[in-house]
This record gives sequence, C-alpha cells and structure tokens, in this order.
Amino acid sequence: MKCTEAGIFLQKNILSRTDSTCNLFIKMHISARYISYKAARNWYANLKLVKPTPQDPPFKHVVQIGDPTLRQVAVKLYEDEIGTPEIQFLIKRLKYVFKKYNCVGLSAPQIGASFQILLAEFNHDHLKIYSKKEIESKEITLQPETVIINPVMKVLDYNKVIFSESCESVKGFYADVPRYRKIELKGLTEEGKPISLIAQGWWARILQHEIDHLNGKLYTDIMEPKTLTCSCWNIVNERGGRVQIPFGHQ
Ligand SMILES: [Zn+2]
Repeated sequence: MKCTEAGIFLQKNILSRTDSTCNLFIKMHISARYISYKAARNWYANLKLVKPTPQDPPFKHVVQIGDPTLRQVAVKLYEDEIGTPEIQFLIKRLKYVFKKYNCVGLSAPQIGASFQILLAEFNHDHLKIYSKKEIESKEITLQPETVIINPVMKVLDYNKVIFSESCESVKGFYADVPRYRKIELKGLTEEGKPISLIAQGWWARILQHEIDHLNGKLYTDIMEPKTLTCSCWNIVNERGGRVQIPFGHQ
C-alpha cells in the first residue's frame, strides 16, 4: 500500500467516527493530502481500533498473579482421561512453554488450564547460575524432566528451610520462602502409570512450589513479606526508570 492509499484508506475508515481525535486527523490529512505510512500506522494503532485476538488456553504464555485460574484448586484427572488427545496436547503445550521460559517448574494452571498436572526438571543449564557454595547450601541436584499428575505430598522432614524463590506468574519479583526440606510425592505419569518419588533440598522446593499452584496458592502467600524484591530495582535506578519487563518468552 502506498502512502497516499494509506491516507485514503484511513480516512474512509474513520469518517463515521465523530470524536475530536478523528476530526483533527481528518482536517490535518485532508489539507496535507497524504500521510506517511509509518505515521498512519502509529496513529491507527494508538486508536486501539484493532483489538488483539483473545487466545484460548492452554496458552503459549504464562498467566500472571491476579488471573483467577491461579487461585482455583485444579481439577483431578481420572486415569482414563490422561491418554486423551486433549490432555496429551495440554502436557505437550506445558512442555513447550516450560522450555521457552527456561523454567525449573511449571503447572497447568499457569498456562490457563486448571488441571492437576505439574512439570519439573533441573538440568545442567539451570545449574550454571549457581555457585558451588549455593549448590551445597541449597542441596541442588540434577533432576530429569518429570511430569506428575494428581500429586499427593507427604512431608518427610518437617524442618523448614528458607531460600529466595521466584515464579513465572509473579514476573519481576523474588522473595524468601520457607519450604519443607524433604517430601514424598505420589501420583501418575503422563502415561497414566503410578509414580512415587522422594525429594530433598532444592528439588523438594521446586515440587512444593508447583503443588501449591495446583492448590490455588502462590509463594507470595507464604513468603517473608519484607523480603519481596523487584528483580531489577537497581537497573531501574541506573536507567532512570526506563526498564521494561517482558511477560512473554524471549
Ligand atoms: Zn510459580
């Protein structure tokens, strides 16, 4: 579309509008005869006449705190539902978002689907950001990709350990959160087979965080409130506030 055509197109499409912004635009562009395509596109975008198409869950993005889905107790699945194309698609989508966001844990409610499904993994890439001292103190261990459906948790060590934690659904923040040191989980795999595992340290923390999601809870419910920190507060100061936090994956 050429510049002049863009101007005519926009005029045709706004002539029915009577607000002052449109009138100003019409006056301006009837006298100027044409408008640059970029200016027209920006002006049109600012009118917000083009609405984004709402997406249906399961999403390719992670929903944020305030979304009602994050506060629901997720629905348990019957064994014969696990193999259905719908649930297998949901698990596939969960894995897709998990990789895109480079998560260590993600639950189905976080992509808008309130079912009792969690996914967790701790691999070599995740390990890179931790010092040797942290790996020891946090009891960090490598863990394979693990899908657990309908998880039931039993606490094996009631001692709680406090470490900093963040969540893709509370983007841009972290806080100190107490968690049980050792737990046992029972549930079903993505093939519908029974799974039972014992988790300690960091792995136990990741799994407890995801189980909380399945029960409509977030770490902000149990965090030490005064430790809540914006993950880029210092960059905000350095750049005079000109910082944007992306809510999609990079
Ligand atoms: Zn989370």
